[in-house]
Amino acid sequence: MSALFPNYARWDIEIVEGKGTKVIDKNGKEYLDFIAGIAVCNLGHRPPKVQKAIEEQLNKVWHVSNLFQASHQEGVAKLLTEHSVGDYVFFCNSGAEANEAAIKIARKHTGRHKIITFKQSFHGRTFATMTATGQEKIHSGFGPLLQEFIYLPYNDENAIEEAMNDEIAAVMLEVIQGEGGVNPGEDAFLKKCQQLCEKYGALFIIDEVQTGIGRTGKAFAYQHADLSPDIITVAKGLGSGFPVGAMIGKAHLKDTFSPGTHGSTFGGTPLAMAAAKATLEEIFQAEFLQQVREKSEYFLTKLNTELDNIPFVKQVKGKGLLLGIECDQDVSPFIEEIHKQGLLVLTAGPKVIRLLPPLTVSFEEIDQAVQILKQSLQSFAKVGL
Ligand SMILES: *Cc1c(COP(=O)(O)O)cnc(C)c1O
Repeated sequence: MSALFPNYARWDIEIVEGKGTKVIDKNGKEYLDFIAGIAVCNLGHRPPKVQKAIEEQLNKVWHVSNLFQASHQEGVAKLLTEHSVGDYVFFCNSGAEANEAAIKIARKHTGRHKIITFKQSFHGRTFATMTATGQEKIHSGFGPLLQEFIYLPYNDENAIEEAMNDEIAAVMLEVIQGEGGVNPGEDAFLKKCQQLCEKYGALFIIDEVQTGIGRTGKAFAYQHADLSPDIITVAKGLGSGFPVGAMIGKAHLKDTFSPGTHGSTFGGTPLAMAAAKATLEEIFQAEFLQQVREKSEYFLTKLNTELDNIPFVKQVKGKGLLLGIECDQDVSPFIEEIHKQGLLVLTAGPKVIRLLPPLTVSFEEIDQAVQILKQSLQSFAKVGL
């Protein structure tokens, strides 16, 4: 009997060890991990430099209240702001908390209530971020939700044009919708959102919780479309598995978060900052990001050629190492088979197989993964589903 709430549909695999791209389950079976904690372990499992940084901090001090000076946070904030259009950072512990901070600062800064988000988006599970999430299944049973959220179709320039006015506090979006199906935003649509925010004095918030920290081959995914958001939120990959989140904002927002307005007991703790600093120092190197783009190109080409004749595969989409294989049917039976063959992958919506290898994945490991995907999917094609 389990004493856990059954709020997760867990697979029947128990991982007991991980190193790099490889994990081992309790029966000694080895897998290639192309989930990486859902875009968390961007440097693979137990990256040596991050492990060393955490170990060193363990021998100094674990927790210091935010009532004290925080040079441990300054170093990470410097890296995040130097590699983005942001100027100031607030640290928290998760993606939902980072988005919660963004929603709060947007309302207080503009004095407005309404926030536009998009269908199929995912922004978290707290009341504000659950409400921001444009998916009914996430809301179901929890109403009444927070007021004044407006959900628009994604990639629809006309819809945002019609909905914008000077009552809107913010537009919040993912540059590639992760949970919602690996749906990339089109450059023209993303630019239109930003222009309309500028025109009406609304804040442009980009949720980079899944796409940030090198995942798409740039430090942040918004940089592919040359955008300039007022707020960027990050979490997942930031600490290589150590829980940490951050809201990064432009200078004009500084005075809105004056002393006492917002906070977090654990936000920016020395251990989390040690993990984040060591993570960013590696990922934000131009050469490292260049390699992510090369691996992505290789992976995409391989997938497109090798899966070409599988009848139920519609397309391969995504950016960097956030990729999705879109099928024309429910993919959950495929996932179990792929796991059995030794490759861990997950879904994004009902019809997309999502691939999130560590950014440190080797070309050889990509080859192995593609072979497993091909063989597993072919076995279903033969049965004639
Ligand atoms: C995972 C995710 C979140 C929520 O992050 P948590 O750390 O689970 O709270 C928010 N936004 C996006 C885009 C995500 O992928």
